[in-house]
Amino acid sequence: MAGLFDDDPPPPPPGPSLFGDDPAPEPNPESAPAYRVLARKYRPTHFDDLIGQDGLVRTLRNAFAMNRIAHGFMFTGVRGVGKTTTARIIARALNCIGPDGTGNATADPCGVCANCRSILEDRHPDVIEMDAASNTGVDDVRAIIDATQFKPMMARTKVFIIDEVHMLSRNAFNALLKTLEEPPPHVKFIFATTEIRKVPITILSRCQRFDLKRVPIETLAAHFARVAAAEAITIDPGALEAIARAADGSVRDGLSLLDQAIALGPDATTITSDAVATMLGLADRSIVFDLMDALAAGNIAQALGVLDHAHDNGAEPGQVMQDLLGLTHTLSRLKSIPDLATSTALPELERTRGRALAEQLSIPWLGRLWQMLQKGLADIDQATDRRACADMVLIRLCFVADAPTPGDLLRHLRDSAPAPASTPSAPSPNPGGSMLRAVANGAPIISAAPNAPPAPAPRPMPTSFEQVVALAHDRRDIRLHAHLRHDAGLVRFAPPIIELNLAPSAPRDLAARLGAMLEQETGRRWTIALSAEKSALSLAAAEEQEATNAHQRASQHPLVQAVLAAFPGARIEALHRPDPPQALGAAPVPGADDEPPTDESTLDQEYS
Ligand SMILES: [Zn+2]
Repeated sequence: MAGLFDDDPPPPPPGPSLFGDDPAPEPNPESAPAYRVLARKYRPTHFDDLIGQDGLVRTLRNAFAMNRIAHGFMFTGVRGVGKTTTARIIARALNCIGPDGTGNATADPCGVCANCRSILEDRHPDVIEMDAASNTGVDDVRAIIDATQFKPMMARTKVFIIDEVHMLSRNAFNALLKTLEEPPPHVKFIFATTEIRKVPITILSRCQRFDLKRVPIETLAAHFARVAAAEAITIDPGALEAIARAADGSVRDGLSLLDQAIALGPDATTITSDAVATMLGLADRSIVFDLMDALAAGNIAQALGVLDHAHDNGAEPGQVMQDLLGLTHTLSRLKSIPDLATSTALPELERTRGRALAEQLSIPWLGRLWQMLQKGLADIDQATDRRACADMVLIRLCFVADAPTPGDLLRHLRDSAPAPASTPSAPSPNPGGSMLRAVANGAPIISAAPNAPPAPAPRPMPTSFEQVVALAHDRRDIRLHAHLRHDAGLVRFAPPIIELNLAPSAPRDLAARLGAMLEQETGRRWTIALSAEKSALSLAAAEEQEATNAHQRASQHPLVQAVLAAFPGARIEALHRPDPPQALGAAPVPGADDEPPTDESTLDQEYS
């Protein structure tokens, strides 16, 4: 009988040279007795030892109870949640023969039979692990496929465990696929991957897939507490929680951190939160809450004081801002999901001070803070003096508190503000006022209407040249309307006399047609006088100039200046005319396309 290791009985352990390194090698192999890293020492050996994967365990137990075990398994999940550990337990469950050597496959392997022991010690010839990260090629897979052709040496089932299977080349996957389609009855494949989306669907469809969850913080903390107790180590709850949080769902990462914490001091039997906070490089977390308090109050001196203090204690300004961004996100979630406030997944500070802050702050406020912090962080990243830049960002952020929300602004303006002084000199083609829209960082920040547009008045008698032009539009006299807008400069408007300077492009009968229209509409005779006064602008040209002027005026408006001050980097992008005074209808009208854009979307809608 031949096998992968059959040349050399007793079989050598499938060492790292062939199948990749163990993810948790033991340190200091020379020192005796060797310290076993916690992740290895406390690696689960039974399904019931798996932390935080109850659904997975239930399904696997059922499969073994019903003797319906898939030929291929696919385990996916973040690093250190137990993918390969589960694979090894399955390998033992498949091959355990029980203490008396007569047992069958079982969900509760005995741990003492020859198969159990050699699998536990990673030296079973029929349980073959390969790290696809370092064996990506088709030849590596071919070695495995060849090995599947031979019966197991001492086990019931040959188990191939391929870690990080998404790293295999396309050819390697194709080679594997044939075997996976019709595996020999004595062969099982167990794949593990952190990136399931890189695994071809053809492979996935031939496997039973399990998504291993990130282990919740409280579950991790409880597990680490048990490990610490077993190691006779005193560790305070804050330290446990900090390690569990930093582990980010990974049992293995958390146990590695616990190893580090144990190795921290001369007294390896006590671990304090302070020591762990230092080890994890956590700035005193209350700092970020102090900062948020200062921003909420718009208190610049306080905010800068907090940053000074943090900086003196070695905190990195960019990191403090990053933490502030994280807190902004947490507070927004707290506001959106009230149940979160009682969740133990939240650290103590978030549950207490975070909840209080969330009650005080609004979602629009937090949304603006988020945007400005993102921008601020980018600035800090590029700054030569990160500290100074962080100061400036904080000062900017303090204005968020003072600035009214866009919704507040609109309501305030609609309720109280009178129309701003218009420039009396230039004929204003825009008597209805304009809507301002400032934009910061590409995202609309604010909308405001400095004065409300009046409803279009009935016009028994036009009181302005604009109304005369609008009249032409209302009568669907499109040509007359276009020529009046583009070719007629108004020199004097004194009903029933209109004095115009006509461009050479104006039709010869323009004055006559205008007079006829006016007489029809108003029932009286009008005098259309032609003037050589060239300085008079056509309506279209005047509008263009007015747009420029309006932009300038808008930037002078106290409200806009307040907005611009509150949102540095903001600029006036466009002036909007909520209701065109000429009441242009649906019909396309020459000249209508040189209206300013009327974008209806405002951030107010997004935020309120
Ligand atoms: Zn056994």
